[in-house]
Amino acid sequence: MAELVQDELGVTCIVNDAGPIQLPSAAYDVAKGRLTSAYGALGHFRMEFAQLQTLNPAGRGALGYGEVQATARSECDVFIDLRGDAPAFPSHQKRNGYFWADPAKTGELERIALTARERVGEFEKTVYFRLEESLCAHSRANKTGCTRCLDVCPTDAFEGPHKLDARKCISYLTIELKGSIPEELRPKMGNRVFGCDDCQLVCPWNKFSKPTAEKDFQPRHGLDNSELATLFLWTEEQFLKRTEGSAIRRTGYEGWLRNLAVGLGNAPSTIPVIEALKQRADFPSEMVREHVHWALRRHGL
Ligand code: SF4
Ligand code: SF4
Repeated sequence: MAELVQDELGVTCIVNDAGPIQLPSAAYDVAKGRLTSAYGALGHFRMEFAQLQTLNPAGRGALGYGEVQATARSECDVFIDLRGDAPAFPSHQKRNGYFWADPAKTGELERIALTARERVGEFEKTVYFRLEESLCAHSRANKTGCTRCLDVCPTDAFEGPHKLDARKCISYLTIELKGSIPEELRPKMGNRVFGCDDCQLVCPWNKFSKPTAEKDFQPRHGLDNSELATLFLWTEEQFLKRTEGSAIRRTGYEGWLRNLAVGLGNAPSTIPVIEALKQRADFPSEMVREHVHWALRRHGL
């Protein structure tokens, strides 16, 4: 399989048996280990392995695997599962970017390789925008005419006019950041669980914008009027189904729970809030658990 997709995808081949050592290749890495859990979807799979050993790079010594790591983690964009065991996810056919097949079945490898190779490409994302500094009242005639965006920012991300520390921006923290949200910023985030845009809302120039009737931008699944505690109890399957075609997918299920845990930690101490947090206190992801425990501590628990 690695040979079939290596021209289009960066491949790491992890074998799970003690069979003959897979020959190393300049085109892909090889390791041995047992998959113990997997999360995520296309573009952001996370896996945990037991007894992981990487193949020693070619050298003078004998070819063999290196030291055993009792547990190890890895991430990938596309996950091709040829273990021949049960799929790593329930309803695996619906999980974008996950390919499962019985390797003993004729033609399966070629079929998967053809589809997996199409899962690469470029997402459309703004790479250029025009900044009209003179539009901002703050810049007119070098006199301060407005400081609304600087004043409203919940995390004080603006260091001053024209200077934004993106690492403090809630849009970065809840969408782009893949790890833990810095603890000192969490209380300032309030209930903003996916982006913020407060600075856009207060800017006087944006009063000229009009709400769009474009269907793709309309709220779905009541997401414009939902309780955080309810959203927090969505299963991963529900999350993937209900965010199909939505930018919210970008944060991934773990990121979604992480953000909601912060929102719930900042919410009033009600029974639904506390109960929802308690239900996720033993969630398999260490990052989610840590945010949930932080939130429970905020409620004195
Ligand atoms: S989006 Fe929110 S957090 Fe980010 S800079 Fe604007 S006001 Fe601050
Ligand atoms: S809110 Fe708008 S006009 Fe006011 S300082 Fe910020 S960008 Fe400029």
